[in-house]
Amino acid sequence: MIDSSAIHRILEGYDCEHLSVATIGSHTALQILKGARDEGFENLVICREDMEKVYSLFGVADEILTIGDYRQVLEREFQNELIARNVILVPHGSFVEYLSPGRIEDELFVPMFGNRMVLEWESNRDKERKWMIHAGLKLPEEFNHPEDIDRLVLVKFPGAKGGKNYFLAADPEEFERKIRKFGRNGEFTIQEYVIGTRFYPHYFYSPLTDRVELLSMDIRYESNIDGISRLSHILQDSMPDPSFVVTGNLPVVVRESLLPQILEMGQRVVKASKELFSPGLIGPFCIEMVCTDELEFVAFEISARIVAGTNLYINGSPYSQLLYDEPMSTGRRIARDIKEALALNALDRIIY
Ligand code: ATP
Repeated sequence: MIDSSAIHRILEGYDCEHLSVATIGSHTALQILKGARDEGFENLVICREDMEKVYSLFGVADEILTIGDYRQVLEREFQNELIARNVILVPHGSFVEYLSPGRIEDELFVPMFGNRMVLEWESNRDKERKWMIHAGLKLPEEFNHPEDIDRLVLVKFPGAKGGKNYFLAADPEEFERKIRKFGRNGEFTIQEYVIGTRFYPHYFYSPLTDRVELLSMDIRYESNIDGISRLSHILQDSMPDPSFVVTGNLPVVVRESLLPQILEMGQRVVKASKELFSPGLIGPFCIEMVCTDELEFVAFEISARIVAGTNLYINGSPYSQLLYDEPMSTGRRIARDIKEALALNALDRIIY
């Protein structure tokens, strides 16, 4: 793991009048770039040639660096070029996926917004579960032995991109029949399928204000499960196997009386992160959860960086409007934090 003091030394050499907020061109890059510009920063996007026109057509980037392969970002020479431009990198889902959490921790020496230790805690299922338990969240039951399956379960594979290949099973027989396709030796998790309504709240924690903010919320639109539900009465006898591949995001607000629970869950996740991997979680995160008909939230995942559902709210959400009274996306909130840290001479509290 690259020592944070080495990164802070690089940061000390930066020309703070000309910081450049940068990210990889995919996922939430448009929002991050616009947010940086709205807060008065220069910005830069690193993308493959096929994505270049997106960033030039939307006109949100001051500089576009094209590369052939995202792994090039980790080359020493390329990183030095970024440092020469006073770059602060903002990670997002595709950023982490393209570069890999391990290589980001070990090889990326360009200053990055947030605590990079968090990437390992969110990408390793055992660590993530430990974190969620430590935070006192209610989690779905997990079954170590398929023969114990006594209710509807979702079988999950590690590193699945947006739920790919997950399958449902109602009993041990159905599990055995379906797992054959993937081979029994692979790693998988057998998790209770929680029936209820899903919520993906987008939080932001700043150590500068020591406040957890609820900026917005979405529901993932998933294929084919969300398509099946429209035809369930017609498909009764020929129901296809449901899958959970994310294809889009829908906006949502929650019943106001449920807000205390949602806010408290965010606060507990931050507190637990500080106890488990100090300085803990910094910046945007999302707790993926289901609300049951007992109005109880069951959480099944933490994403410890900006999530794609925030793209619904480039112009702000009902919640961010209450907090800021100006268009405050998650991307802009990141840039605001950098601006506030700069004013306090405290960049090293939010950049690692
Ligand atoms: P990502 O890494 O993109 O968040 P993933 O591949 O880790 O996705 P999950 O987020 O764990 O996948 O799950 C994908 C989808 O499966 C969820 O959005 C949700 O619809 C459904 N899902 C996952 N776990 C449960 C659960 N325990 N109960 C009910 N639905 C679930």
